[in-house]
Amino acid sequence: MFKDIDNLGHESVVFHHDKSTNLKTIVGIHDTTLGPALGGVRIWDYENEEQAINDVLRLSKGMTFKAAYSGIDCGGGKSVIIGDVKKIKTEALLRSYGRFIESLGGCYITAPDVNTDIYDLALVSKETKHAAGLPAFCGGSDDPSEFTAYGVLMGIKAAIKHVFDSDSICGRKILVEGVGKVGKYLVSYLSKEGAEIYVTDISKKAIEDVSKNFKVKVVKPNDIYDLDLDVYSPCALGAILNDSTIKKLKCKIVAGGANNQLEIPEKHDLMLKKKNILYAPDFVVNTGGLLNVYNEYIGNYNRKTTFALVERVYDRCLKLFKKSQDLNISTNELAESICLERISSIRKAGLSYSKVCI
Ligand code: NAD
Repeated sequence: MFKDIDNLGHESVVFHHDKSTNLKTIVGIHDTTLGPALGGVRIWDYENEEQAINDVLRLSKGMTFKAAYSGIDCGGGKSVIIGDVKKIKTEALLRSYGRFIESLGGCYITAPDVNTDIYDLALVSKETKHAAGLPAFCGGSDDPSEFTAYGVLMGIKAAIKHVFDSDSICGRKILVEGVGKVGKYLVSYLSKEGAEIYVTDISKKAIEDVSKNFKVKVVKPNDIYDLDLDVYSPCALGAILNDSTIKKLKCKIVAGGANNQLEIPEKHDLMLKKKNILYAPDFVVNTGGLLNVYNEYIGNYNRKTTFALVERVYDRCLKLFKKSQDLNISTNELAESICLERISSIRKAGLSYSKVCI
């Protein structure tokens, strides 16, 4: 375990167990050079503890890149709570988790993620100042998913502009995989732009919801590889770009909201490049939710300004695609190097936020 932590470069990983609520949680603090580590709390019924540790390590590292690329002053962190959400999620457990987060002294700020929502965070925030992504009735900014989806739309537009030399989405064949919170908002944006939309999801209810409200063609998850697409937009789970899926994928662009889409980043970004598929790195395009939560945390939240900030994903992507083409390196490798450069320049200049917080 310590070898993995060392390899991925984490500053600290904290384990906590509270007997009375049976809370089992792990917080991964990857890098706090730019600011306190910010990232959501995920509740998941992992098959074993090793899986939970891997998840928190991968996800928190991804948050470092996401924050660094979007230019905000925070670092990367994430936490997981181990267990079946249907059985364990109680007010007592969430508040106990909040009290533990408070004990970290502000080096990690928690927020919603898979299986936790703004209302859960309202309970967490009863015990800690270091929670964001709260409902409006608690002075928060409400569901961040709309902002995430807007950033993904900007990424898709920029990718279409780069590949087809026109950023019109009208008539483009786009598949949205996973029509949950982010996917549904994305479908709404895409339908306003006149795209030919395909959707897939393992949840019957999610498919019914989206089909009721928008003109979409429904595809079974295993059949998506039969489609010839302009854009494949993964908005479900991570590691979806791997040896077996990339071989089957027929599309010109991958741009979606899911975190950690590349199973092995340094391998699978190259596989996509070799297939001439333009990959819009997840941590560049799905930053809208983070920007929203960050703006809430620093105070004076303004919805309009936040949308304007998210809109900048378009220019950032265009620049990234052009430069990666000029340098003939993968978009993911280039984006990661831009993040590392920002972090290291701040550190070298002695401007680092990092502190020993535990
Ligand atoms: P969600 O749980 O609301 O939606 C995910 C959807 O994906 C669900 O409808 C689920 O049934 C579906 N799904 C799961 N496995 C699938 C599969 N194998 N094939 C097809 N569909 C499948 O989650 P969300 O908040 O919409 O987040 C989606 C992704 O985006 C996650 O990876 C999350 O980490 C990431 N993300 C979300 C936000 C946000 O603001 N919500 C921000 C950044 C990143």
